[in-house]
Amino acid sequence: DAKRGGRGIVRVFDESMDEGIRFRRRVEGGLSQAIAKGELSLVYQPIVSRDAIDVVGFEALVRWNTQEYGLMSPATFIPIAEESNLIHELGDWVLREALEVLKQWPGQYVSVNFSPRQFRRHNFVGHIMQSVQRAGIEPARVQIEITETAIFDDAERAADTLYKLRQMGFRIALDDFGTGYSSLYNIRKFALDCLKIDRSFIDGMGRERESAAIVHSIIHLGRALGLGVIAEGVETEAQVQALRLAGASHLQGYFFSRPVTADIALDMARAGILDGKDDIAGDSAPL
Ligand code: C2E
Ligand code: MG
Ligand code: MG
Ligand code: MG
Repeated sequence: DAKRGGRGIVRVFDESMDEGIRFRRRVEGGLSQAIAKGELSLVYQPIVSRDAIDVVGFEALVRWNTQEYGLMSPATFIPIAEESNLIHELGDWVLREALEVLKQWPGQYVSVNFSPRQFRRHNFVGHIMQSVQRAGIEPARVQIEITETAIFDDAERAADTLYKLRQMGFRIALDDFGTGYSSLYNIRKFALDCLKIDRSFIDGMGRERESAAIVHSIIHLGRALGLGVIAEGVETEAQVQALRLAGASHLQGYFFSRPVTADIALDMARAGILDGKDDIAGDSAPL
């Protein structure tokens, strides 16, 4: 009996494995054609300064409207793209598109996410510089978002890459800060402009003392190192107040605006300020 139960478990496990693999293959197959089919798009979420509510930049976030599954979250397809070579083609499209849209904005920067594999790509620096030059854009208007995972595996090489990017004038943000493996001691070796506090900590701030303590620590660390600190996932007025008091330099989240289309982003960029009280419709992160 126990044996049969055991076999049963093994069989179910195998079937679910198969299904996982099938899903990945389908996503890979679909993604490889998504660009040509025009199924990818970008949405933009404003980043505002702490006191002045100036819109200083926008984070570009990729969306994929799939034939098979509808709107699919980047949290689902980016890791699959990351495991194949598709991430490079996808990343090139994202950067090209974001730079094109940026040209219309009066002065804001665009913040673009790069996965670890993109960041470790051979000649990443030359590649990104070429894209920016081709588009005729100042590197200072481009913020490169990378995660701790991208830089701590091969810290020497990453430090060198970041140094070169910063020399060329790019802004560098360490995304989802607090969720990875970064050694605080090593942080100082990297040429960074700002830390982005992961939204899980912002979300927990009002409920758990631990989250609030982590948020305060990151803000102190950032300030001590001369870095900006962007709080992401800000949803409530109470969080805004607490983060202003704690000294975060910039805020981003649904309270101010959901990610919006390029058209709406352009209106926001031109207006230049955003106080979080207007109810602007935008996309919620897809499931
Ligand atoms: P991320 O870079 O940490 O982006 C922030 C995520 O939080 C976005 O989800 C955004 O829509 C969501 N968000 C912003 N404000 C709020 C808020 O107030 N509340 C809540 N609940 N969520 C908020 P999204 O767009 O689904 O992206 C998920 C992740 O996918 C990103 O996390 C990033 O790691 C990755 N990603 C997105 N676009 C790209 C891309 O073009 N290239 C690469 N390599 N990765 C990307
Ligand atoms: Mg990001
Ligand atoms: Mg983030
Ligand atoms: Mg995050």
